[in-house]
Amino acid sequence: MNKLFIGVSSCLLGQKVRYDGRHKKHVQIVAIFSRFSELQGFCPEVEIGLGITRTPVQLVKKNNQVRCIEIENSKRDVTQALTEIAHYQKNSLLKLSGYIFKKNSPSCGLHNVEILVDNQIRHEETGIFSNEIKKMIPCLPVEDEYRLENSEIRKKFIESVFMFYRWKQLTSRNFSKKPLFLFHERYKKYVTSHPQFNELEKKLVKIDNGNFENLSHSYFCLLMEMFKAC
Ligand code: SF4
Repeated sequence: MNKLFIGVSSCLLGQKVRYDGRHKKHVQIVAIFSRFSELQGFCPEVEIGLGITRTPVQLVKKNNQVRCIEIENSKRDVTQALTEIAHYQKNSLLKLSGYIFKKNSPSCGLHNVEILVDNQIRHEETGIFSNEIKKMIPCLPVEDEYRLENSEIRKKFIESVFMFYRWKQLTSRNFSKKPLFLFHERYKKYVTSHPQFNELEKKLVKIDNGNFENLSHSYFCLLMEMFKAC
């Protein structure tokens, strides 16, 4: 079996990469996830050359667009750089079976990140880097460290990470209908109550050798979406 890799915001691993030269090590998360995976740290702000220490950045809505801008220098916009660094990471990202992001960060946050809209603070955004990762690999299980403190959310995230990992293992070999059906048998119990369950099974039946790759991928994306919602 290949190793299971999970991407993590570096500061959560204890690396001193934050704007103030500190870290935000989450001892519990690191201990739990290190038991069964190799944690791959990445700090997008350091990788785009902002340095340690640095002036912090924030999200600002400008001309209806979400931009990431230095707080003390509104002319320094790092949105494009944060977007591009996600794409430069593509090969490393393809190894991952999940990603744990730092909450509230304008680069890494997943939910309700602070944004300045007409000089008012709102909590409604996703970080620029984490948002790009979600767009690049929509089925990848992602969570932040705060939500993972909840044991139910953590259990579900771990299950989805293993589901993603097993799917990657399957598709990296000579993938065929039989293992696909076995995979479905293993995981269907989690989603039978979902309103799209019939649609999922119809997708499975429609898969044949002519359209195997596209339809099996579309089946898996729907399965992951339903699993998250159940
Ligand atoms: S939240 Fe993201 S960008 Fe900020 S220090 Fe941590 S890894 Fe770096």
